[in-house]
Amino acid sequence: MNIQATTRVLLLVGFVMTVYICPAQHRESAQQTINTLCSEAFSGRGYVNKGDSVASNYIAKRMRDMGLKGYRPDFLNPFLLNVNTFSRTQVKVDNKDLRPGLDYIVAPEAQSAEGKYKVFYVSPKLLSSTKAVKKVKSAIKKGFIPVLCSYEATNKVLAENAAKIKKSLSGAVFIQLKSSLTWSVATSQSKNTEIELLDSMFDRYSSEISVSIKAVFMNDYVSQNVIGYVPGLEKPDSFIILCAHYDHLGKMGNVTFYGANDNASGIATMLDLATYFVNHPQRYSILFIAFGGEEAGLIGSLNYVRKPVVPLANTRFVFNMDLMGSGDKGATIVNGSIYKNEYEALTKINTEKEYLPVIKSRGKAANSDHYFFTEAGVPSFFIYLMGDYSFYHSPNDSPDNLHLGEYYDKSFRLIRDFIVYLN
Ligand SMILES: [Zn+2]
Repeated sequence: MNIQATTRVLLLVGFVMTVYICPAQHRESAQQTINTLCSEAFSGRGYVNKGDSVASNYIAKRMRDMGLKGYRPDFLNPFLLNVNTFSRTQVKVDNKDLRPGLDYIVAPEAQSAEGKYKVFYVSPKLLSSTKAVKKVKSAIKKGFIPVLCSYEATNKVLAENAAKIKKSLSGAVFIQLKSSLTWSVATSQSKNTEIELLDSMFDRYSSEISVSIKAVFMNDYVSQNVIGYVPGLEKPDSFIILCAHYDHLGKMGNVTFYGANDNASGIATMLDLATYFVNHPQRYSILFIAFGGEEAGLIGSLNYVRKPVVPLANTRFVFNMDLMGSGDKGATIVNGSIYKNEYEALTKINTEKEYLPVIKSRGKAANSDHYFFTEAGVPSFFIYLMGDYSFYHSPNDSPDNLHLGEYYDKSFRLIRDFIVYLN
């Protein structure tokens, strides 16, 4: 083969790579971001081992390296929170170790507990009786651990009686059987230790349960948001905010809740959009915020709205991204039914460019970081992608299970085009 032919082949290969491989490379870099945010050194981006600080320093470095400007040299925006954490959790039934996070979770607000107890099973029949509170309390006095049967939330009598029992206890250790487990983060500590155990893992004829839980309550813990921006070309004092929360649930004893979809995927999308807009600045300035403290109750975004870095009056729109890892079943826009013109514009882009299969709209919801902006009168959207991925607030929400597909690229383009439209 002569040189000219080789050049032609190389050019052709280059062209094919540009057309076909670039989007995948883009997706691969996002997958890399997710893998990093979910690696053990980040401790599930919670408060054990200062996982939140490891994550925010990583994001700040990424922002600095790609050329975003910061309001502070460290790009950080600190705030305080109270948080309950667990340095050790161990639960054994008849000497068999249960798997933390999969077989059981410790209620987020639980107290420390240590001990070996005889099982007192609270059956549906007992739980529905008027004597339930009295019988459970007397069993605890005799050294038993009450194991409350699982029930559907729709069963009002059982739900009310279970709530009554829990409210009447102080310094007690008890088990609530559940049909599924969803962990979260608490900003207060209870007087009791509640353990949620998967119904299918519990044999009601087992006789003994041992519990070893070390809860560490942290007062005025310093966490942080991470903020960088691209100055606007024509109206640098007007802002559009693109945001996603980086924090997740952290560690429960030895087990890590990685939060690949929730919300390493949103941070990956945000950083990819930041890279794009650094190279394609718009009329307005674009502020990129990685929020902390979301899982603990939208604390990072609440602090930002109370003490904004740029005036809320100059903030034209907030676009919040959370759960961006799937998309084969489309997306939902919270506030879509409130900001109708913007929703129409977004769906028009989506239909014309054939990005996502469907974009659903819903009303107001306090379910992510857009919420306090909306309450303060700043127009906002919250997008989350939908698909078959079902590991919500479970240790299984990990990069091993989350594989970005074509909808990663398509949702990236959808948001990019929408931000350009807003300008
Ligand atoms: Zn989330």
